[in-house]
Amino acid sequence: MDQVDSVVVGAGVVGLAVARELARAGREVVVVEAADAIGTVTSARNSEVLHAGIYYPPGSLKARLCVAGRERLFAYCVDHGVAHRRCGKLIVATGGDQLGELGRLDAQARTNGVDDLVLLDAPATAALEPALSCVAALHSPSTGIVDSHQYMLALEGDARDAGAVFAFGSPLVGGDVTGDGIGLVIGGAEPMTLCARSVVNCAGHDAPRVAHSIAGLPGISIPRAYLCKGNYFRLSGRSPFSRLVYPIPEAAGLGVHVTLDLGGQARFGPDVEWIDAIDYAVDPARAERFYPAIRRYWPALPDGALIPDYAGIRPKVQAPGEAARDFVIDGPREHGVAGLVNLFGIESPGLTASLAMAEYAVGKLRETG
Ligand SMILES: Cc1cc2nc3c(=O)[nH]c(=O)nc-3n(C[C@H](O)[C@H](O)[C@H](O)COP(=O)(O)OP(=O)(O)OC[C@H]3O[C@@H](n4cnc5c(N)ncnc54)[C@H](O)[C@@H]3O)c2cc1C
Repeated sequence: MDQVDSVVVGAGVVGLAVARELARAGREVVVVEAADAIGTVTSARNSEVLHAGIYYPPGSLKARLCVAGRERLFAYCVDHGVAHRRCGKLIVATGGDQLGELGRLDAQARTNGVDDLVLLDAPATAALEPALSCVAALHSPSTGIVDSHQYMLALEGDARDAGAVFAFGSPLVGGDVTGDGIGLVIGGAEPMTLCARSVVNCAGHDAPRVAHSIAGLPGISIPRAYLCKGNYFRLSGRSPFSRLVYPIPEAAGLGVHVTLDLGGQARFGPDVEWIDAIDYAVDPARAERFYPAIRRYWPALPDGALIPDYAGIRPKVQAPGEAARDFVIDGPREHGVAGLVNLFGIESPGLTASLAMAEYAVGKLRETG
């Protein structure tokens, strides 16, 4: 069995950021990835928004890592020539009964360290976005968009430059906690066994299954995985908006909102659809729910303008109807196994938080049980 210092399981945006962090700290790193390329799962199926950090409960990992990660990511994009835009966003109240919730979000954002939100009345909002219909809006100037694939390529490049090695088509199929480290069985066309001093499990939807496959890790420390699909529809024709537009958040998602890609194409979504098995097909019939939701803030949406686009699946660790849970990033202090960190439930804002999350996860490797 080959000895290695550290193994990162999964080369989505989080695994790439962790591999970069470890390699730049001088650690030997092997990244094992089941797919044939980086970033083909959830990291390729999201809104590509750099969130400000408004929505998350104060003190939560989501709040802390989003706020810390966002500015680091903007700076990283500038340094590495990754396409991005600080386009800003509006959270809109479409009726007087939603004003209280706007105020609550504003106060929560300030507690989270987001202190640049501005409450706008209807005329001030219309001056920014004439097509928008609302009674008031919160303007977040520090929300942006990023080319997530360019970002992941840059992370991979940094990790390789610092010595990290990537094994694609190499799923982790099992493991065993030994006195010398963690034994790992890697499948695929070129199966191998490795013994690692440190393992960081960044397998996204499969992270709970990967954790269960490691003998010696207490099963009680592994949450159950749930799948919550988000479908997108794109707008045929030009976007009427130059900023992102979000309604008041709903349970399990942020409401059917407008995001823009760097080419200016508008898309709407993601909605909320709990599912039992991975399925990325977008049912065109779901458009019937999008039209009324969008027309609450954009009454001029023409009939027939929504085209089924793509879907992503949120890796949830709570069942439908249960209260939202924080990111679960467990190290030796939580589960008692030295040298192992598991990341579960890395839904939004995982992309925004990725650099700060990598630093946090690598820090947990140093804990003792
Ligand atoms: C609909 C939607 C919209 C979102 N919008 C945003 C947004 O606008 N802004 C934001 O900040 N965040 C957003 N997110 C969240 C963000 O996309 C995720 O937090 C992030 O992509 C998670 O990255 P990851 O590396 O943990 O997972 P993944 O990208 O899923 O990567 C996991 C990797 O592990 C590999 N893997 C799995 N099993 C194994 C195994 N046994 N062995 C080896 N490799 C394995 C997979 O092949 C995959 O490459 C959104 C998410 C969704 C679903």
